[in-house]
Amino acid sequence: MIKVGIMGGTFDPIHYGHLLAAERARESCGLDEIWFIPSFQPPLKENDPNADVNARLEMVYRAIDFQPHFRAMDIELERGGTSYSIDTVQALQELYPGRAFSYIIGSDRVNDLPQWHRIQELAEIVSFIGVERPGESIDVSLLPSYIVDRLTVVGMPLVDISSTEIRQRQADKRSIRFMVPEKVYSFIRRNSLYEKPE
Ligand code: ATP
Ligand code: MG
Repeated sequence: MIKVGIMGGTFDPIHYGHLLAAERARESCGLDEIWFIPSFQPPLKENDPNADVNARLEMVYRAIDFQPHFRAMDIELERGGTSYSIDTVQALQELYPGRAFSYIIGSDRVNDLPQWHRIQELAEIVSFIGVERPGESIDVSLLPSYIVDRLTVVGMPLVDISSTEIRQRQADKRSIRFMVPEKVYSFIRRNSLYEKPE
């Protein structure tokens, strides 16, 4: 079986926290590939994504350019509607047999796993790789055993970067350099993403 880690997210924009989480999960769990899958509409987020789908996908491509183990997939953007992970994994299993899938998720998402759509079914067909991020630590005592049994927590340096902060900094005309790869930075600046209308 080829081991594939799925890095899902809004990627509005993708930043170094996402990339380091993916790389450390790959290393710690011996994953063959990481597939970055931008969501069309994340189920548990209150606001719609800010940048449009093409820009979010383009930034992912730019961020993972030339990384041999990293791929980007537009399956959720193409499907449209609310992006449920269970639908994505079932579709991927059909399209790409012979692969074992795991979801790489930060601590905020690990803690809300019980709220994910059809989580019991999802936990039967994928495993979860959790990474810590600042602000919220993984608390397995709050998770049901069918999730804990499928969860591996891997270490990574805490990266205090979020897409929310990047959007806010852009709107405030503060620097976002070195929070995102250079090619993502130049794309954001060139297209005036996240800027406030004057
Ligand atoms: P937003 O602020 O818009 O919610 P975000 O930075 O949280 O953006 P998402 O696209 O929501 O990014 O996150 C996608 C996945 O990456 C989630 O599983 C999230 O927990 C994880 N993640 C995001 N930032 C980090 C980080 N700094 N360290 C570790 N994991 C992260
Ligand atoms: Mg988030």
